[in-house]
Amino acid sequence: MAVSHTLSMQDLEHKVLVKVPVDEAVEYIYEQLHDDDKSFTDHIQHLAREYENDDKIPPSVGSQCKKCEFICNAEQEAEGFKNGFKECWRQAYKWQDKDFEEAHMFELWNFRGVQKLIDTDKVKLADLTEDDVKPKDDGKPGLSNSQRQWLQVEMCRDGETEAYLDVQGIKAEMASWTYPLHFIDFETTTVALPFTQGRRPYEGIAFQFSHHVVRQDDSIAHVGEYLNTERGVFPNIDFVRALKAELEQDKGTIFRYADHENNFLNLIAKQIKADADSIEDADELLTFIQSITHSTGGVKPPWTGERDMVDLLKLVKRYYYHPDMKGSNSLRQVLPAVLSGSKFLQKKYSQPIYGEGCKIPSLHFKDHIWIKMEEGRVVDPYKQLPSLFKGVSEKNVALLSEEDELSNGGAAMTAYTKIQFEDMSEYEREELEQGLLKYCELDTLAMVMVYEAWKDMI
Ligand code: SF4
Repeated sequence: MAVSHTLSMQDLEHKVLVKVPVDEAVEYIYEQLHDDDKSFTDHIQHLAREYENDDKIPPSVGSQCKKCEFICNAEQEAEGFKNGFKECWRQAYKWQDKDFEEAHMFELWNFRGVQKLIDTDKVKLADLTEDDVKPKDDGKPGLSNSQRQWLQVEMCRDGETEAYLDVQGIKAEMASWTYPLHFIDFETTTVALPFTQGRRPYEGIAFQFSHHVVRQDDSIAHVGEYLNTERGVFPNIDFVRALKAELEQDKGTIFRYADHENNFLNLIAKQIKADADSIEDADELLTFIQSITHSTGGVKPPWTGERDMVDLLKLVKRYYYHPDMKGSNSLRQVLPAVLSGSKFLQKKYSQPIYGEGCKIPSLHFKDHIWIKMEEGRVVDPYKQLPSLFKGVSEKNVALLSEEDELSNGGAAMTAYTKIQFEDMSEYEREELEQGLLKYCELDTLAMVMVYEAWKDMI
């Protein structure tokens, strides 16, 4: 990373990092014995010897392998990368290539009993029995966690390729929605070293949102967005002002995907309260935030807004499953699955209907065709967008973009950080901003497509 040419000795006077005594922690590590009753020093020497002799240490596979850092996807293997995960599991279970084609138990969504089953040599999803999963009704509409896990096992075992949708459940949910429907998505970041003066370490920054609308007559439009990447500017207050201006036009239901948007608006409410004296519309902004969220973190008095946002992820978990989703409900996994399972979406979006001046107006696309087929399968729309990071390998982009239900939009955070820290030309900056805008627009379009697929199925 380039060092700013304006940096002076004065800037470096205040130390950011301080020395902390770690003797106790080091002592503790030294005292620990390893599985084979080896001391820490013996263990290190053993590892050094094995390394020196170039001997392979037999792997000890277990639940930790779910997050193995040496996993490659098919494309990476084709490029010549070695797949460390496969090497270990081949050695531990004498697996052949065809074993890796079957669903691994690690694909089971949100399952806590992985190690217990590995200990009994159950490692493939189709090997699990009802007794392993113990599906139980939790008394709420739709599927409980364990019922959904069991559904996934059954669909895998039966080779099911069609999606599951609880039609009655989703109909009941839809009956409570008010048009026009609003679909929003935030891009945010939290950094140890604040980008702007006067802010705290690890303080949340909301720098971008996108907004799609679906009207009662089924017309769709990408109606709005916000992006502020300006250096030295803390964007949160303007971000909420822009969001308020977009959503206060009507009383329609607002959708988010996961808790992120609700949590972040709670956080911004706190920031506004802390700086209320210097924000002239603080009261209006707080009233708006409370109207579309519910309080979190034991805030007193608690609130639930009259337009509290609907969590589309929660609906996916309770009412919908497609085998292509495997064990992930992240929007980037759900979108391709929904597209491959919906003939309606395939037909509609294989036309150039998306873009400026088209049937579905967009702020960043022109006559765009979202459905492209390759070898009989829908090409993931996210993979159709240009990479945010030029000159970065596909493997590293995948790492940057890693996302699940909890971590959201890693690539956008990285792009924002690059803009804040790196000296870049106006052209590079604009390119990166255009990329951010397109990705975020697709996030809210993806939510619209999930809604459309369900509407078609009921
Ligand atoms: S697969 Fe091998 S390398 Fe990966 S976590 Fe498991 S034991 Fe470690």
